[in-house]
Amino acid sequence: MEHVLVTGGAGFIGSHFVKRLITAEDVARVTVLDALTYAGHVENLGTAFFSDKLRFVHGNVQDADLVNDVMASGPTAVVHFAAESHVGRSYGAAREFLSTNALGTQVLVDAAHRHTIGKFVHVSTDEVYGPLVQGSATEQAALRPSVPYAVSKAAGDLVALGAYQTLGLPVCVTRSSNNYGPYQYPEKIIPLFLTRLLRGMPVTLHDRGQHVRNWLHVEDNCAGIEAVLRDGKPGEVYNLGGGADLSSKDLTGYLLAVCGATWDAVTYIPDRPANDIRYSIDWAKARDQLGYRPKRRLEDGLAETAEWYRRNPDRWAPIARGKIPAVPLARTIPSGKGSPHA
Ligand code: NAD
Repeated sequence: MEHVLVTGGAGFIGSHFVKRLITAEDVARVTVLDALTYAGHVENLGTAFFSDKLRFVHGNVQDADLVNDVMASGPTAVVHFAAESHVGRSYGAAREFLSTNALGTQVLVDAAHRHTIGKFVHVSTDEVYGPLVQGSATEQAALRPSVPYAVSKAAGDLVALGAYQTLGLPVCVTRSSNNYGPYQYPEKIIPLFLTRLLRGMPVTLHDRGQHVRNWLHVEDNCAGIEAVLRDGKPGEVYNLGGGADLSSKDLTGYLLAVCGATWDAVTYIPDRPANDIRYSIDWAKARDQLGYRPKRRLEDGLAETAEWYRRNPDRWAPIARGKIPAVPLARTIPSGKGSPHA
């Protein structure tokens, strides 16, 4: 693990992962490749950005020449986070999502194979399994993605796993549930609601808040991804989940409590098209084979996350006030649907 290339390392999860790697004694160098879309901010990297170990490359994973040069600079492992990641934006922007999430992955695996990379971890999502009425998806479950974001991620998973099959590239795939924690761009439900409620503003819940998701603290996901990077078996998929399956209404109850707000702040709006009713994953494989154990209780993680947003308005207020161009794909979000959280 001398030198790790992290794509999307200026985003929410990627930046937590980079900060973690920088402190690992056996990691001599971390190269971040990030296009700095609306979701990427070098500020997310904090002091890690100035570490002698870190090299930041501003660029697109679909740029084959650049990716080839970066792979030639000596990484021995790749952790691939870079993606368009917001479900709400993906409606009507399926081509852009497919382009980054599937074709971008193809460019990376081709270059990784050319430069005999020792481990390629493709970071994916439980949404590739599609909605489940009951039970939890194991890694053997069929991929039945519905929303364009999940379709594009499933395509990326197949590209990565195909490179294992046909090229022998040592690929592992992680599929985690919904992440939350500090530094998340305020468009997904937890940071969106926190940043509105902390300003005394109302929030909107789709379809009376029935959708069920599993919530995983970002540091727990990063610990799981690191375990897969170090000990995951090539060709294998690992689900990474947290302790809490929760309806968005129950989640909203927690967020109101940590912000000192009441249900008067909540308005119900009609659901968006094909909003999957429930995701749930079984993560026993990562627990049993890699010793993966999410540590944060949701109540503690949410309270700590709310505190971070309360103490760091400079990190999100300019976005919330529209001073940072926030929505290059906004024209594609169905109008009249309220906050497009995911
Ligand atoms: P994010 O949107 O916060 O960050 C994405 C990062 O990728 C940004 O820094 C952005 O600038 C960069 N990027 C986007 N397109 C790029 C391109 N073409 N070339 C180079 N860089 C590009 O996303 P996140 O929430 O940190 O998610 C990271 C990964 O984890 C994604 O692959 C996502 O699908 C997956 N994931 C996220 C969650 C979640 O709850 N956030 C859950 C499961 C899986």
